[in-house]
This record gives sequence, C-alpha cells and structure tokens, in this order.
Amino acid sequence: MKTQPARKTKQRDALREVLERSERPLSVNELLEAAAKRVDGLGVATVYRTVGALLGDGAIEAVEIPGEPVRYERANKGHHHHFQCEKCARVFDIAGCLENLRTLVPPKFRIRTHDVTLYGLCAACAR
Ligand SMILES: [Zn+2]
Ligand SMILES: [Zn+2]
Repeated sequence: MKTQPARKTKQRDALREVLERSERPLSVNELLEAAAKRVDGLGVATVYRTVGALLGDGAIEAVEIPGEPVRYERANKGHHHHFQCEKCARVFDIAGCLENLRTLVPPKFRIRTHDVTLYGLCAACAR
C-alpha cells in the first residue's frame, strides 16, 4: 500500500511537533504513543520511516545511550547532556557541561569529543 503524500506530510509534521514540544528525548515507542493521538492508524513502521526522514533532513538528532533504545530530540538544541532515571527509564536533558574536562586527561592529550550521562532518580520517582 502506497502512502499518500498528504498523509506522509501529516505524519512527519506530527512527529516533528511532538519532538519540538518535548522537553526530553523520546524513543520510537514514546513517539508512537505521543503522535498516535494526532495521526489515525499510525504504526511503528511509519514512525521508524519518518524518523529516518527527519534525521536525513537534519531536523532531529539521535541520542544514543549504551544498552538503551535510541531516542530522538530536535536538532540545534546546543551543547547539553542527559540524565536517565533508573526507575522510570526516561531520559531528560541537563543543561551545560563539566568545566574541567581538559584537566582530566594527561598532558598533551587532546580530547576530541565526550559523552556524559548522569543516572539517578527523576523528581517524580524520587518522591
Ligand atoms: Zn523517573
Ligand atoms: Zn559536554
């Protein structure tokens, strides 16, 4: 079955809008759950395909945490890191970065990139 262009645009806009509004990165399943209210009959295969298209456009970026399903967030958020709740498994944005990274490596080493993920309990789960 071929997807109609108008429907395709609607699916794309819906997923994009969900990610624009989300304050945290979302997995395919979370995206499906959030966007299903806006698009009738939205399925997981369509979400995967649409996410691929949005990644190709540079509209969204992948958030990869080892051992976790890939999550997605809107592009151009600026430098930031993530916090994963060990109870509900949701991933949240944390602003900023560690200031003393350069001092952690031996002399003459050059840091090219870094990953920082904090783990703990989110506010809802810590109650
Ligand atoms: Zn939590
Ligand atoms: Zn950083």
